[in-house]
Amino acid sequence: MLSQRAQAVSQAFSTQARKAQTECERGLLADKIFGANVFNLDEMRRRLPKTVFEELEKTVEEGRRLNPAIADVVANAMKDWAIEHKATHYTHWFQPMTGLTAEKHDAFLTPSQKGHVISSFSGKMLITGEPDASSFPSGGLRSTFEARGYTAWDPTVPAFIIDEPYGSTLHIPSFFYAYSGEALDRKIPLERSIEAVSKQALRILRLFGNTTARFVHPMVGSEQEYFLVDSHLAALRPDLLLCGRTLLGAPAAKGQEMSDHYFGAIPERVLAFMQDLERELLKLGIPCKTRHNEVAPGQFELAPVFEDANMACDHNMLTMNMMRHIAPRHGFVCLLHEKPFAGVNGSGKHNNWSLCDSDGQNLLNPGKTPKDNAQFLVFLAAVLAAVHNHAALLRLGTIGAGNDHRLGANEAPPAILSVYVGDELNDVIEGIIDPSYASHENKSAMEIGVSSLPALPVDQSDRNRTSPFAFTGNKFEFRAVGSSQSIAPANIALNAAVAMSLAEIADTLEKSTASGKTVTEALQSLLPSYFLQHKAILFNGNGYTQEWVEEAKKRGLPNDDNTVDALDRYSDPKVMQVFASQGILNEREMLARQEILYAGYAKTLIIEGQQLLELAKTRVLPVANSSLEKTAQRAQSLCQSLGKDAAKAEQEILRDFYSLVLKLRSAITHLEEMLSLCREENDIAKQAHVARQSIVPAMQSLREYCDSLEETVDDSLWPLPKYRELLWIH
Ligand code: ADP
Ligand code: MG
Repeated sequence: MLSQRAQAVSQAFSTQARKAQTECERGLLADKIFGANVFNLDEMRRRLPKTVFEELEKTVEEGRRLNPAIADVVANAMKDWAIEHKATHYTHWFQPMTGLTAEKHDAFLTPSQKGHVISSFSGKMLITGEPDASSFPSGGLRSTFEARGYTAWDPTVPAFIIDEPYGSTLHIPSFFYAYSGEALDRKIPLERSIEAVSKQALRILRLFGNTTARFVHPMVGSEQEYFLVDSHLAALRPDLLLCGRTLLGAPAAKGQEMSDHYFGAIPERVLAFMQDLERELLKLGIPCKTRHNEVAPGQFELAPVFEDANMACDHNMLTMNMMRHIAPRHGFVCLLHEKPFAGVNGSGKHNNWSLCDSDGQNLLNPGKTPKDNAQFLVFLAAVLAAVHNHAALLRLGTIGAGNDHRLGANEAPPAILSVYVGDELNDVIEGIIDPSYASHENKSAMEIGVSSLPALPVDQSDRNRTSPFAFTGNKFEFRAVGSSQSIAPANIALNAAVAMSLAEIADTLEKSTASGKTVTEALQSLLPSYFLQHKAILFNGNGYTQEWVEEAKKRGLPNDDNTVDALDRYSDPKVMQVFASQGILNEREMLARQEILYAGYAKTLIIEGQQLLELAKTRVLPVANSSLEKTAQRAQSLCQSLGKDAAKAEQEILRDFYSLVLKLRSAITHLEEMLSLCREENDIAKQAHVARQSIVPAMQSLREYCDSLEETVDDSLWPLPKYRELLWIH
């Protein structure tokens, strides 16, 4: 009889690409289906009285809360639209500090008199919800006597419908906050950070004589990487089920070294998944654009067109949900973890970020005239200063147990934040700092606001893949975000840090112009010193080398290569002052977040440790023991029949194997002890540190023995699908 693993391999091989089930599924008419499930402005205009629509449009544009006076009318129109789209239920959809999204469905149906039911949905139901949300992490922001959490519609993101075979549900994107008004989610601080950066950017635009821009919004495009694993195989891997990554597994003979998977032909079954996924995303108004095979076998990427940061954040959360949800229809499990497999690339999420004003002008676009160039240089300087001054804060936007396997480990990008601007822009900056640099290098000096920038290459994105923060033509690409993470923390940190430096620059410029200088004159003195002060953040070399680690240390750049060290800095006065002064998070909110994140980290490691123990004790050890017994029996019988020399040779083999099994047993005991040590620690911050210092290395050494055994014992006895099967069957 075939082993379970052999059966799963054979089923995985024979699974065919899923055929489209309906006419509708077959025709991917993007223009017809795009936004079909979204209650967008067009739909609102069609269904609402003109005055109500105009007020709502303004609310959306200015990012305000909905006026209760028009809520009933809006709610009614939304309900009618949803019911026409076969929705039976509605839910406030929010993003608590679990890192995932949350929903609680309520039916539109309400019993009326005489055993009838009617559909009802009032303005009050639309505006606020009060889920019994006492089990979400709050870091002490909700004391037990006031455990309620509230949700409120964020009208800047339109409501949408998720279709399911048995009925659909209206989703209302919402904020989540405590009775005290403090944020319990990531959307509230994201919105606050957008307002902060908008306010400061407008001050700069006004100085350049711009009187028309009403706001400035960060624009974000996040490239989502992921792995697909066949479900039959994944079902035999409890580590994938509970931890989203393999906790053990010897490397396959072939990994990514041939680069033959990268941009390779997409397997038919995977393509069917991608098309199905894209259809659902397009219906939700998510502008997915690019799909391709990534570097590691079994790894893929989806990139949308960039959008307003708030919308991009919601859309990325939805994209991840839909990926997890749709993969099983195609016989796959979708892994969003940052490091599902050792020895091949992990997954990240490049966060492309720029600033765009309400007139559609990208403020990070160098532009063609000296005036545009000068303005561009101010925004460039602000971003460089932001990354330099607030590297620890930005690092906080990327922390997580999963991402520790990438940042600071031997994988792109490094944990040290530096900025890559390319040679051309680097020369411009050097020339501004020191005009003799320009003439020395045989280039003409640049006079800010008077002369023009040299032509900059539009797309530099592939020129330095090791940089965690790269200028790519007209946007910055923050590459340290983890694939499973919400992009909110990274963008909150980025917006906050940039708002700080824009405020600083605006203060100086406003003072100079008040004393009679022109903006150009003020810039001639401000920019050289500003660039000089922050030049240390620029690095155009290879970010993987040891030399860079040492050089960065000399430059005073932080190198927090793990989550807990980075997290300790959350309570640094310098970090807290940024969020507090920009009105993004108050002290209580920050300390609550720090606590939640420590706890999340420790819990993740305890779960992983427990799961590895279980695998080692119940899967690996039994195979090791029975192999050991067989080896011993064989040695004994060979010795009896073949005599002394054979006995010696066989005993050596037996001894090696026995010593491996002994090491495995003691590594199991050691991990058990480390887990107890960690569980016993009551202080949350300390517990996170203990987890990192004790569980991580204990898991690592246990894994090594398991992997050695996998490479030693009879393949037909190994119970867990191997890397070659998980990575290469699609
Ligand atoms: P690469 O893989 O070379 O980095 P992609 O084309 O895969 O590039 O992804 C680039 C991402 O950057 C896309 O999501 C794109 O929409 C986004 N993007 C392009 N221009 C901007 C911009 N001005 N601001 C923010 N994001 C942008
Ligand atoms: Mg890409």
